[in-house]
Amino acid sequence: MTETSTDTWDVHVLEFARSRQQRMAGLIHGAPLDEVHDLPFSFVLARRADRIVLCDTGFMREGTGEAMSIKFDVPYWISPLRLLAEMGVRPDDVTDIVLSHAHFDHMGSIGKFPKARLHIQKREILSWHEAMAMPPAFGFLTEIINPDDLRSAFDAAVEHRLNLVDGDVDDLLPGVHVRLGEGHTMGQQFIIIETGRGNLVVSGDCVYSSRNICGHNQSGVYVPLTNAIGAAWDQLKTIDRINKAIDGDLDRLIILHDAERWKGRPVVKEIEGFRIVQAS
Ligand SMILES: [Zn+2]
Repeated sequence: MTETSTDTWDVHVLEFARSRQQRMAGLIHGAPLDEVHDLPFSFVLARRADRIVLCDTGFMREGTGEAMSIKFDVPYWISPLRLLAEMGVRPDDVTDIVLSHAHFDHMGSIGKFPKARLHIQKREILSWHEAMAMPPAFGFLTEIINPDDLRSAFDAAVEHRLNLVDGDVDDLLPGVHVRLGEGHTMGQQFIIIETGRGNLVVSGDCVYSSRNICGHNQSGVYVPLTNAIGAAWDQLKTIDRINKAIDGDLDRLIILHDAERWKGRPVVKEIEGFRIVQAS
């Protein structure tokens, strides 16, 4: 293991995939129609003393996970397990996984961590079960859901490893706090981690860009998502909660799909073009 502090969390962002020529206007309101990015996909590794925690897990490109990556045109990928190995972490070492939400690119490999305790909002899981049970005409709601991921979560429930979080919780783990952040999905949560450089916030998909918080052209007017099943009303309240949690300091916000690839933070390793970035 590399060095870990007993008091604060050591946090890295692990970039595991990129989509191809993704239209920003398909993610946030009012983005220029010609703005496209090979958008990064990432998850977070947080370590402290005897805990090894992931915030989201990425996805495996196998079986239905492979089909989802083709459907959403995510051709560039490296195994999340390979990235963790580069950081000296084996799957069995992972003690906890805090899931922002259930989209395939955020919890697609939970089945690879048989000893980890999963923490996800109760409303997130139950809303997807409800949506899945609706007639096919409601398929828009579940487009980004891989049913096999819900099956894996159910397996974890049977093994008593699934913690259904009910709203905001302080110290879900020591120095790790979760906040309900509905909007992108019905039971999304964002995660606050205490580190040596202050509290960091892992955004989940509550925001795709700093523009969601700063506004277009730094207008100061929050920007809602276009890729969401919840109301703009709830999204903007969530964006405001995140802004308060970071005290308006965007350097403390980890955007998992950050088109600028965590600019300004030290790159610890680069493997086949994918970055591991020190966040704490
Ligand atoms: Zn999502």
